[in-house]
Amino acid sequence: NQALTIKSLRKTYGNGFEALKGIDLNVNEGDFFALLGPNGAGKSTAIGVVSTLVQKTSGYVDVFGHNLDKNMTQAKRLLGVVPQEFNFNQFEKVKDVVMTQAGYYGIPARDARQRSEKYLKQLGLWDKRNTMSRMLSGGMKRRLMIARALIHNPKLLILDEPTAGVDIELRRSLWEFVQEINEQGTTIILTTHYLEEAEQLCRSVGIIDKGEIVESTSIKKLLSQL
Ligand code: ADP
Ligand code: ADP
Repeated sequence: NQALTIKSLRKTYGNGFEALKGIDLNVNEGDFFALLGPNGAGKSTAIGVVSTLVQKTSGYVDVFGHNLDKNMTQAKRLLGVVPQEFNFNQFEKVKDVVMTQAGYYGIPARDARQRSEKYLKQLGLWDKRNTMSRMLSGGMKRRLMIARALIHNPKLLILDEPTAGVDIELRRSLWEFVQEINEQGTTIILTTHYLEEAEQLCRSVGIIDKGEIVESTSIKKLLSQL
């Protein structure tokens, strides 16, 4: 089964810049996949299209067989996305950021509270639950974004450069957390420009450069070629 299928995806921005030149990408259910490429390669654009924050120019995106155009509601239920920008309401308390998101998905309050508590605890944010979210450190805001993205139990979690600007120690604990989520059955896709991050975490890798996928393979095969 495929968690994510991308076919002939193109994105040309309003200024005429071709950020994605018709990419194909297949990510299997249960995989831990790295979209690896230098700054400006088109990673955030691709994530943006999948999360519907960026409007594609042409092409197809399926999430667990649900087409993003035809069955957007079903597709989005199965998808959790952590973009790079902190796009939560900074004037909500930490717990409310997560609970508001639960409300969007119609999750019953009791379940929402349980899941919120579970993820805030696992991400080291439980003590901060009543803090105004804008007061959090950058690393904490990143973790709040992750807790929020998980509240509806998505089957596919996509993280856009989750460790950008996060110090080494925190990076390790974030990696461990995401690995655990993957071991529990959630498919993970992360974008990174560090081969080392892809190598240590992921099983599969797609390499993107200048809006094109130049390689899609297992980490093992990639490393054996280097
Ligand atoms: P990455 O995430 O791999 O760093 P991005 O997807 O953010 O790459 O950007 C890919 C390219 O598209 C870059 O050259 C970037 O400058 C350009 N780009 C991104 N957003 C816009 C925009 N809104 N308008 C025009 N160009 C953009
Ligand atoms: P920074 O200011 O560098 O962004 P934070 O203030 O966000 O760091 O980190 C606060 C503390 O929370 C750190 O000591 C870190 O070790 C801890 N922490 C980070 N991630 C987790 C996690 N997934 N689970 C538990 N504790 C964590």
